[in-house]
Amino acid sequence: MKQIIKEIPKSLLVGFLCLVAALSFVSVWRLRELSVPVSGQELHAGPYTYVLDAGHGGEDGGATTADGVKESGINLAISLKLDALLHLLGQNTVMVRRDDRAVYDPGSETFSQKKISDLRNRVRLVEQTENAFLISIHQNEFPQAKYSGAQVFYNEIPPAKAFAKRLQSELAEKLDPENHRKSKSATDTVYLMRQIHAPGLLVECGFLSNPQEAERLQQDDYQTKLALVVACSVTASVQEEMQSNESKDNIPVYKLRQ
Ligand SMILES: [Zn+2]
Repeated sequence: MKQIIKEIPKSLLVGFLCLVAALSFVSVWRLRELSVPVSGQELHAGPYTYVLDAGHGGEDGGATTADGVKESGINLAISLKLDALLHLLGQNTVMVRRDDRAVYDPGSETFSQKKISDLRNRVRLVEQTENAFLISIHQNEFPQAKYSGAQVFYNEIPPAKAFAKRLQSELAEKLDPENHRKSKSATDTVYLMRQIHAPGLLVECGFLSNPQEAERLQQDDYQTKLALVVACSVTASVQEEMQSNESKDNIPVYKLRQ
């Protein structure tokens, strides 16, 4: 089996894994059990370490649904699924948080001090991570309930813009054909995206102010689908980027973790 895995071109392997995930539609946690051990092989995991940023946390709940469900918890649930899927695809990840808390320094007292410290620490984590690629997960809101649809934002560091464009169209294609939103630069509007020196995407997965979409965003299956589209789209973009940069004789394959 090891040899078979080694010989599969990564394009086929990623496609296969995405297909398995989409067709089987089991939970991400069960998908992890399907991974095939490949030990003792020096295989490439891809050029990036994905810094997965579940937006907000702790007393900073972010946006809320009409009945008070906080964005921070939905962000965390989707980010944990994304982390599991990227691991399954052999990618390196770092998570900003794995539970319901902000990441401010001890000694921060006011809400404002905590928020500033929290954002600086998120920037610091990206900056300290070698070959970082930020994926920040958020939920949107708007005063009028009629607006819906995921939207992908990017910073100006390549290849973020190209990845965002692809992800935007795949989110619409796979999850919501009525979503005609376009990917958009967030360099001027989002502190985290402006401060980092690594490529970054910020995915607003949907609008908590829209009751139907808010309901979907809280469903485990829909969160899994969202994470799956993000993981497969970004991984496929990386794979294309690597293939265009490397000779055909030297195409690495993805490592499946134990
Ligand atoms: Zn947010």
